[in-house]
Amino acid sequence: MKRLIQGFDTFRRDVFPQQRELFKRLADKQNPHTLFITCADSRVMPEMIFSAQPGELFVYRNIGNIVPPYAQHVSGVVAAIEYAVKVLRVAHIVICGHSDCGAMKALMNPAALQDKPSVEAWLKHADVARYVVAEHGATMTDSETLRRLTEENVVGQLEHLRTLPSVAAAIATGSLNIHGWIYDIEHADISAFDANEGRFVKLDPQSDNVPDATPHARFSLRVAAANAA
Ligand code: ZN
Repeated sequence: MKRLIQGFDTFRRDVFPQQRELFKRLADKQNPHTLFITCADSRVMPEMIFSAQPGELFVYRNIGNIVPPYAQHVSGVVAAIEYAVKVLRVAHIVICGHSDCGAMKALMNPAALQDKPSVEAWLKHADVARYVVAEHGATMTDSETLRRLTEENVVGQLEHLRTLPSVAAAIATGSLNIHGWIYDIEHADISAFDANEGRFVKLDPQSDNVPDATPHARFSLRVAAANAA
């Protein structure tokens, strides 16, 4: 606990005075552009990775960066998504998995969950990844299986995300984009799911071409088409 309190003291003495105006502006409102859903793993630090300032990222973390499908499980993450979309009106939702994820390793070794019934029940929401990889991965090495599980979990959670009515409605009108990313802790790389290509590609910070997992908007296109007619 002493480590935490000393850290807070350092923040208050060294960091806060330099950003006093920012914190004053943020004292009674927030306007984050992105909801960032990632794993609770202590090595994944969204604000550090993206050099983000206070007020930029609405972050939600849980074991395995999981989003339960609508109507199956009312949970903190589902409530946070609804709030971010309906109230904060974020423009982006990122679901971000990571290398060496303990939750994904547990999917590979279900016996390890025997005396952890809550974790076991939670990870049922990641069964989609386990089943997809089991169908296609009989000859893969353990590290390849872990990588594919991590990818398929992100893809599966993106699909769950789209079952939430607030998300589906915002995507349909073109006001929300969704992204599936995987962060490599050791190499500081991010790979992003490209829905058009059906695969993960390395994110190139120098390129404006960001792979996207968002289905085409429909209502805004209809409006545009009607206006053009
Ligand atoms: Zn993890």
